[in-house]
Amino acid sequence: MKKLGLFYEGKSKKLYKTEDKNLLITEFKDDFTALNAEKKGTEIGKGALNCKISTQLFHILEAQGIKTHLVKILNDTTQAVKKVTIIPIEVIVRNTAAGSLTKRLGIAEGKKLPFALIEFYYKNDALHSPILNDEHCLLMNLVKSESDLEELKRLAREINSVLKKFFETRNIDLIDFKIEFGIDYDGNILLADEISPDSCRLWDFTTHEKLDKDRFRQNIGSVTVTYEEILKRISSTV
Ligand code: UDP
Repeated sequence: MKKLGLFYEGKSKKLYKTEDKNLLITEFKDDFTALNAEKKGTEIGKGALNCKISTQLFHILEAQGIKTHLVKILNDTTQAVKKVTIIPIEVIVRNTAAGSLTKRLGIAEGKKLPFALIEFYYKNDALHSPILNDEHCLLMNLVKSESDLEELKRLAREINSVLKKFFETRNIDLIDFKIEFGIDYDGNILLADEISPDSCRLWDFTTHEKLDKDRFRQNIGSVTVTYEEILKRISSTV
């Protein structure tokens, strides 16, 4: 499969057209952005680590019956994916309070939540990704119907339950994560984008050490070293 013209460039990935109109190639970049793209950085090898981690996590989800856009990994930094129309809603799932939840509501960082909290944010950098309720999503036609919103919530809970259990077997605590969904040519809702330490908060279960992009946000130290640790833990057989 060959990369043809650039289809779209985002903050951490590039999408290329291919000979097949229903398939794209995703290339994971070494660039980081955080705090609504106000903080930027690059670490060589970050893109390859995220490509491998995200591929493994999507395979685990596929094995549990969750449909994703992933077709296959092509090399260290690229994947073949089904072309989808991205639903402009960032779906966040939280198991433990951290980040914007602690800032907005004053809940202490590290507090376990009594149930998995699902939040929707508008995928719009110019507006600084504001939080949305169900009615905002419907009002702005971000989804077709209320049942699509319910489906996003159902899928988000299922993805959380599969990943949380899996990470626990690797001594990793899945604190929260962001996912995006797309609609394919046949109208199916598929998990799209990526699931990686750029889009998840992952803490060591025992020491609570941060093994994710918070290291970049908070200038804690090298990011790729901990991303390598995540890849090692999820690749090992237990
Ligand atoms: N997240 C993301 N992209 C975004 C916003 C959030 O991947 O544009 C992830 C983030 O890494 C974390 C979760 O979603 O795992 C919850 O993020 P939060 O709302 O706490 O915002 P943040 O503290 O990242 O600004």
